[in-house]
Amino acid sequence: LSDKITASLKKVRGQSKITESNIEEVIKEIRLSLLEADVNFKVVKSFVDKVKAKALGAEVLANVNPGQMFVKIVHDELVNVLGGGAVDINVRENPSVIFMVGLQGAGKTTSSAKLALYIRQKLGKKPGLIPADIYRPAAVDQLQTLGRQNNIPTFPTQAGMKPEEILEKAKQWAKDNLVEVVIVDTAGRLQIDDQLMGELGRLREIWTPQEILLVADAMLGQQSVNVAEGFHQRLQLTGLVLTKVDGDARGGAALSIREVTGIPIKFLGVGEKVAALEVFHPDRLAGRILGMGDVLSLVEKAQEVIDEKSAMASAKKMMKNEFTLEDFLTQIQQLKKMGGFETILKFLPGMGDLSKQLKNMTPPDNEIKKIEAIIRSMTFEERHNHKVLNASRRTRIANGSGTQVQDVNKLIKQFEDAKKMMSGMMKMGMGRGGMKFPF
Ligand code: GDP
Ligand code: MG
Repeated sequence: LSDKITASLKKVRGQSKITESNIEEVIKEIRLSLLEADVNFKVVKSFVDKVKAKALGAEVLANVNPGQMFVKIVHDELVNVLGGGAVDINVRENPSVIFMVGLQGAGKTTSSAKLALYIRQKLGKKPGLIPADIYRPAAVDQLQTLGRQNNIPTFPTQAGMKPEEILEKAKQWAKDNLVEVVIVDTAGRLQIDDQLMGELGRLREIWTPQEILLVADAMLGQQSVNVAEGFHQRLQLTGLVLTKVDGDARGGAALSIREVTGIPIKFLGVGEKVAALEVFHPDRLAGRILGMGDVLSLVEKAQEVIDEKSAMASAKKMMKNEFTLEDFLTQIQQLKKMGGFETILKFLPGMGDLSKQLKNMTPPDNEIKKIEAIIRSMTFEERHNHKVLNASRRTRIANGSGTQVQDVNKLIKQFEDAKKMMSGMMKMGMGRGGMKFPF
């Protein structure tokens, strides 16, 4: 999904304005890729329409180019469709009750054990498992084994017990075992039927759950949308656990289910092992779908921090090789706010190596104070032409700024290195269609 989008986004990146024609291709690519990922066609259509409307109406911010702006619009819309922020489960009651429902083979039993571990490790509460799937051969054993292996108290469901009886008896059991969060592994079917829904409805009367989580198989793609709608109509689901996301189907089902039903996706199952459960983060999935490194966070940071005029002025100076120690100080102060050179380069795809080289070029806070003191102790001439800084001037500056001559030497060396590195980057073309950053 991501490769093609990334490729066509690259083409938009160099453009100077978002127009109907220059986003046409990338929009087409996004539409195709989403359909290929088995996203429901209605969802694709509404997504593409929204992105298009926003992109064409968008005001391109001063310090990002239209391509970056467009990436951000696509990303934000993806996050929006996927539900905004991460949603946790409600375990405020004592005990809290969670029903795991879904079709056979979706991953209910496995996810029950995974969720129990998550609740113990991340939420610090004592979980308990209740095997209530009496129809599938060995389902009770399967959960009891998982419980034993991971030290999770598991209700001793006996052969011949009905689900209603299991739940009734489990109430006392939970009390006796000081269980704070009860996870009920319910029976599945091959498809939704009235008998199953009737049973789940009765269980809900016996012990009211705070959470009814639908466990859905991501590999089912569009079909999972119908399953989710069916369960939701009958049971008012509170969330979704999307399993087998480690397989080929990446995100397509998540996008569709969320858009069609509005049910928040809460967890992703990413493997068969009990630890393979992730809290669902819409922004991460959107990022993965777009495969854009973290250009977006960078755009956001830049919007917050960089003073556009001074950035532009510095860039021009860089081009003309007129960058002075004074500019250097301003830039260091701004970069510091953004997290340093290495942070910025980490955000840019393909700039990883450079980021290692630049690792030591962003000084720590106390160093910045020193640099400031040193530069303030220089004359106007010295600040604008560091070449005049001979030994006696350096000694004078060190004394004046309360630092050592070595500090002054080090600063001048850093400045020269930065200047060299930056003009190299300008020549590489970053100053033109690409990033408009202060260097
Ligand atoms: P249930 O019938 O809904 O209880 O499903 P199970 O929990 O028994 O899981 C069915 C199969 O799917 C088992 O082989 C699980 O190991 C497998 N499974 C469950 N969740 C995941 C997952 O997130 N990733 C992968 N790769 N396999 C999973
Ligand atoms: Mg099961």
